[in-house]
Order: sequence, then structure tokens, then C-alpha cells
Amino acid sequence: MIQQVHSHPDIYRIRVDLPDNPLQYLNSYVIKGVSGNLVIDTGFNRPECKRALCQGLQELDIRLQSDTSLFITHLHADHSGLVGLFAATGCPVYMHPVDYQYLVDSEDGSTWKAAEDNFMREGMPPAEIKTQFSNQARTFSPDPHFPVNPVHDGDCLHLAGCDLQVIHTPGHTPGLCCLYLPKEEVFFTSDHILFNITPNIQVWYHMKQALQRYLESLQKVRELPVRLALPGHREGDTSIAGRIDEIVAHHDRRLAEICHLAGLYPHSTAYDIAPHMTWSMRGKQWKDFPPTQKWFALGETLAHIEYLVDHGVLCCREEQGCRHYDLVRTET
Ligand SMILES: [Zn+2]
Ligand SMILES: [Zn+2]
Repeated sequence: MIQQVHSHPDIYRIRVDLPDNPLQYLNSYVIKGVSGNLVIDTGFNRPECKRALCQGLQELDIRLQSDTSLFITHLHADHSGLVGLFAATGCPVYMHPVDYQYLVDSEDGSTWKAAEDNFMREGMPPAEIKTQFSNQARTFSPDPHFPVNPVHDGDCLHLAGCDLQVIHTPGHTPGLCCLYLPKEEVFFTSDHILFNITPNIQVWYHMKQALQRYLESLQKVRELPVRLALPGHREGDTSIAGRIDEIVAHHDRRLAEICHLAGLYPHSTAYDIAPHMTWSMRGKQWKDFPPTQKWFALGETLAHIEYLVDHGVLCCREEQGCRHYDLVRTET
């Protein structure tokens, strides 16, 4: 399903459904120019997404050849999954090198193994870890063998007849890049700013303090003049400052909630704390959460714990290979 979201330049949204995924669908954006096109993000590497994306491109009369470029905003498989489709036909692919490296490193499973070992140290039982093998982020990930044009913060790309500014906003992933059209004040926010759901923040190996970095990246774009914000999932909006303030308030509440729980349950692991947090899982209890949601919830809990430890609010003690947390002081 395609929808025109902007004229001059002509920007379209292809809705790529993500079956059995709470995100529901990915917004793949297309800037259709006279002498070239730009596609932003692809959907998972699975037949349902490929069909939706290819049908959208066909309706827009866009053939995958060298005058069509692909910009991958970040490494997550729902955004990068179908890169092979573009790379195979010689389309230039743009991406931040840090996220590209994660894709390369995950090919032999070593980054997933490192994440599993880490989650085990945070108290996740081995039986829970085993249930993660069906995680869509793993099963529908892209083939990382593609030539990449690395992009960095502040780069100006001239693609599809437009001047696009690259804004590196680490947090949701280490290399997430938004794109901005300064003249038209159109802002492709990817998963940095979502409007109906809150972007997930995890812990990362090559990026310390993911939550701190994320909050800084929100402030980095808060004053950007924006007439149209186009997010990676769900619907967009015009006011990004208001939405940023809501997201910051959400993380403040999360931090306060963890402090409260750490006081209530001293010497807990992150996995002990996570089930007591407030999650919007349609009334489901922790034990009924799907395995992938438990993984994301533990990661999100850890990102906040990491922030509190770094700010001297919590302390961490490692005993028999497992980390336990205690409250040092109450204010964040
Ligand atoms: Zn993402
Ligand atoms: Zn996403």
C-alpha cells in the first residue's frame, strides 16, 4: 500500500506489514526524483515484506538499478532486512559504519552469543535464553555482504534531486542516522522518534550508556524546524519537541520506578526487577510475555540500570557470575 506524504519533492510511504510483530508495520519511504530515487529502509528479510516492498516500488514505477539508492537508517532487521535485493542490482547503499559493523559481526552468531552471556549474568535463566532463538531480529536479518557507502553526522547527500542532511542520533542503536531535508523541513526520524509507541532502548557492546546517549540525541534534534516528521513505524506528526518531552518524561518515570523497586527488593538482579516494571502488554503478566518481549524488556530495564549505576544511584555487586543491584541514594 502506497501513500504520497509530500509533494515537491515527491515522497511516498510504502507500508510494509511485519506479520506477528507488535510493531505492526514498517514505513519504507521513497523520494521519487526526475533523475534518480531514494528508498529509506526496507522491512524484514522475509517473503511477506519483500512482496509488499516490491509491489510498492512497482506501483511507483521504480526499478532497482543504479539510479535508485537505498539509505538504511539503522541495523535492525525490520529496516535493513531486504538490503540484498538492492545490492544485487547495483543500487548504492548508504549506512553508518558502526551499525554496518554490527551486521557483519552478527553473521557468525557471535554478537548474539555475547548478548546471551550478558543476559545470563543479569539473571535471565538459560531456559529463557533458549527461547530467544526464534527472535524475528535473528531469523529475518539481512545478508551482510554488500558494499556500503559509509555516512557520518553532518554529511550532505545529494540523492533523488534533494539535499539531505545526515543526523547521527546514537541511542536506539549506536549508528542510527536520521535524514533531514532543510529546505522543506521534512525529518525522517526512523526509530529515534516514534509518535504512538516509545522507541526501545537496549544495552550495547560498542556503546556505553545507551540511555544517556539517547537522551542527548533527543536534545540534539529538539529545536530542528520540522514541518513534517516521518517515523519508521506508525504515523508521523508535526511537533517533535512535544513528543521528545513526552519520551524524556517516560524515561524519567522508568528511572524512578527502578529506584523504587531496587529499594523494595534489595540485592536483585535486573531479571528480578524487570517483571515488576510497568509494561504496556495489554494486561498480560510477565510469565505470559512472548520470549522476544521478555528479551526487549530486560534490555530496556538494563539500559536504565546502567544509567543509574553510572550516576551513582545504584551499585552493582557481582557474585558467582551474576550481577546484583542495590540502591545507594534515591535522587537521580
Ligand atoms: Zn529499530
Ligand atoms: Zn524499527
